[in-house]
Amino acid sequence: METIQQDIPQTKADDEEVNNFLSGERPAVTQAVLYLDGVSVSFDGFKAIRNLSLYLEPGEMRAIIGPNGAGKTTMMDIITGKTRPDEGEVLFDHGRHDLTQLDETAIANLGIGRKFQKPTVFESHTVADNILLALKGPRGPFACLYGWRNNVPAEKIDEILTTTGLLEHRNRMAGEISHGQKQWLEIGMLLAQDPAVLLVDEPVAGMTDAETVQTADLLRSIARNHAVVVVEHDMDFVRALNCKVTCLHEGSVLAEGPLDAVAGDQRVIEVYLGR
Ligand code: ADP
Ligand code: MG
Repeated sequence: METIQQDIPQTKADDEEVNNFLSGERPAVTQAVLYLDGVSVSFDGFKAIRNLSLYLEPGEMRAIIGPNGAGKTTMMDIITGKTRPDEGEVLFDHGRHDLTQLDETAIANLGIGRKFQKPTVFESHTVADNILLALKGPRGPFACLYGWRNNVPAEKIDEILTTTGLLEHRNRMAGEISHGQKQWLEIGMLLAQDPAVLLVDEPVAGMTDAETVQTADLLRSIARNHAVVVVEHDMDFVRALNCKVTCLHEGSVLAEGPLDAVAGDQRVIEVYLGR
């Protein structure tokens, strides 16, 4: 234990070296914002995730597809610390952090934001106040940096409302806006925390076609500055995301690559037809 400590370079300038030390100088680790390798988890003897490996680069957008029960949500539970894997590595930020050793709050504070399937906004507050509350939340980096806590600049709120297409609805109660708009509001609340990685589970379920198209545009604009992982069944939506696709099946990666190659893969076709 002590010898290991001594081997770690001590100065900040050696950050890169620490990084390489922790990751064993594996490029796949040092290049990845999120790195999962050989991950498995069982629930009462049922292996929901088996030997799952997935690497995400900074700023990358990735769509995760796969039939019901493939392990998509469980994968997000593992990344966010809600579920502990039985085996495997889950590393964040170029190998700097071992997520299997951290709790959900610590992982969120590191900069991994998650949006669950069902929108959870503060219905009896205005749209703008929902963003304000998120900016002032425990991880509001702006609040910390500029001492805004009680004085968040209106421009910051407006910027997020503009990105999410909600500016003209800013004074409405969050409980009154449409289901799609609530989903965008919650994405905006995530953005307020400025995470390095956003995990979004089935964002377009229950949306109109027009809202689905707008959501793809929104996530693509977010992916310019953040890594984004999107779980989704809607293939038109996944096509619109225009990103690398990973198909999960029985807890492992069945196919990975451009959507056309994945969708044309015989094993993927069989898995979807076999439902
Ligand atoms: P997906 O999101 O791809 O539809 P899930 O990750 O929700 O799939 O589920 C994968 C499998 O693991 C399913 O068979 C599900 O029933 C099982 N599972 C997920 N979470 C739990 C849990 N907490 N306890 C028991 N079984 C679970
Ligand atoms: Mg799911």
